[in-house]
Amino acid sequence: MTTAFRFDLHATDGRARTGVIHTPRGAIRTPAFMPVGTAATVKAMLPESVRATGADILLGNTYHLMLRPTAERIARLGGLHRFMGWDRPILTDSGGFQVMSLASLRKMTEEGVRFSSHIDGSKHMLSPERSMEIQRLLGSDIVMAFDECTSFPADEATARASMELSMRWARRSRDAFGDRPGHALFGIMQGSVYPDQRAESAAALRAIGFDGYAVGGLAVGEGQETMFSVLDYAPDLLPSDRPRYLMGVGKPDDIVGAVERGIDMMDCVLPSRSGRTGQAFTRRGVVNIKNARHMDDPRPLDEACTCPACRGYSRAYLHHVFRAQEIISSMLLTWHNLHYYQELMSGLRSAIAGGRLSAFVAEFHAQRAQGDIEPL
Ligand SMILES: [Zn+2]
Repeated sequence: MTTAFRFDLHATDGRARTGVIHTPRGAIRTPAFMPVGTAATVKAMLPESVRATGADILLGNTYHLMLRPTAERIARLGGLHRFMGWDRPILTDSGGFQVMSLASLRKMTEEGVRFSSHIDGSKHMLSPERSMEIQRLLGSDIVMAFDECTSFPADEATARASMELSMRWARRSRDAFGDRPGHALFGIMQGSVYPDQRAESAAALRAIGFDGYAVGGLAVGEGQETMFSVLDYAPDLLPSDRPRYLMGVGKPDDIVGAVERGIDMMDCVLPSRSGRTGQAFTRRGVVNIKNARHMDDPRPLDEACTCPACRGYSRAYLHHVFRAQEIISSMLLTWHNLHYYQELMSGLRSAIAGGRLSAFVAEFHAQRAQGDIEPL
């Protein structure tokens, strides 16, 4: 029997929510953080290690996968889950954002976007229909509607034209997705920083009807204050009985602020990318492991962390392997960072369920304000 896609809201605390998204491939506890597996891998991590950090769902990038190894090849090889060895839920983006940020020779029309691959210059087309086809070939559990991510800043007229195009593409995405039991299609709200446009976009998406809704057009360089000013009202324009997804967010304090404002799902390359550049997220802020102060330090990165990097290795070792450009440096720091993010999400879920989110958030900020432990 196929489990239907379903969102159960368990508790709220202020505007924050906690619940579970049920899918045939497993449950997703919300608020959820999704590690990014751009090219069918979360870099430097085995899938079982990603799962061990507490992740219920991964994100895959349509743009990257359609170019290499191609969606058709992945489909022939049994779909993305089998291909990359991850049997739990996968969300794929529509490719819309990355085609605008990575591809060359782009030409956008009402139909979609024609572009050249940044890898080999080959010519491709992304449209609502093609994006739905690629995401179906990949076997994605949560499919994102094809949209145009409005750049920031955008004046009112530019933002409106972009939002209205995205709403026409949302309709075409819905029609092309069809009826696929157990799979979900999420619509994406646009409207930049303009409340009336956000409201129009939300109304247009609700009229079409989606299994979940994303707040798009944020985390594109507008800064935390502006992002929060949109999140102060935008999530409440969306149906309360569907998951709300904030794409591409973010730093730990962005995540906490977004959850406080009613966001249920987020994704970001930050924990994995930072792991490869020697930056570790801890309860007491960011630690730059490349700094010389760690060279003789036998203490763990974070004494309270239960990840393999903190249980088995010293700051001195992590500093050494980073400096020596050993592969284990990326492995250990990525594991630690993903573990930290998932612990943060777990803490947020418990706090919301227990009605003590404001105390949790106050403690989160107080610990970070202390800064890293004193050097030896
Ligand atoms: Zn750790």
